[in-house]
Amino acid sequence: MTPVDTIFEIFERRGAREYGGERVTQLAHALQSAMLSERAGDPPALIAASLLHDIGHLVHDLGEEPALRGIDDRHEVLGREWLGQYFVDAVAGPVRLHVDAKRYLCTVEPGYFDILSEGSVRSLELQGGRFTPEDVKTFEALPHAAAAVKLRRYDDEAKVQGLETPDLEHYRGVLEASLRRS
Ligand code: FE
Repeated sequence: MTPVDTIFEIFERRGAREYGGERVTQLAHALQSAMLSERAGDPPALIAASLLHDIGHLVHDLGEEPALRGIDDRHEVLGREWLGQYFVDAVAGPVRLHVDAKRYLCTVEPGYFDILSEGSVRSLELQGGRFTPEDVKTFEALPHAAAAVKLRRYDDEAKVQGLETPDLEHYRGVLEASLRRS
């Protein structure tokens, strides 16, 4: 099986799961994130990262909704490791940083915290809370930090019940274009 087929299979098997108590499924959340990225005119790797940013939730064995049980599944680390096997850094890097991008925005952007969903607020605590001014500087210097902040904003928006999106097949091309060539 190719990596892209494996991803399709993961979404088929586990994509119907609820996304962090947000009333959309993991698959709907992924497709809405990718659609926002595509509409913003992002390069293929960032569209792919947007589609795959929560794959870490789908490749662990901690059961569904660990955050509701007070467990941080570290899905951004799992996602980076899993995606890094197959995809270029411009995919795996922003995925790794999309949780830190929330902690970053909570500190640097007035009003950002207030738009977070209940699920995102709950996970924020488990993930370490807002960044300190020192953390902010460290984050800004990281490769893929700016892309991660863009991805984060799609992530926050991609929780609309019943929104129509392209299907997974629509993104086969951007996924294939973002694979490592080695
Ligand atoms: Fe997400």
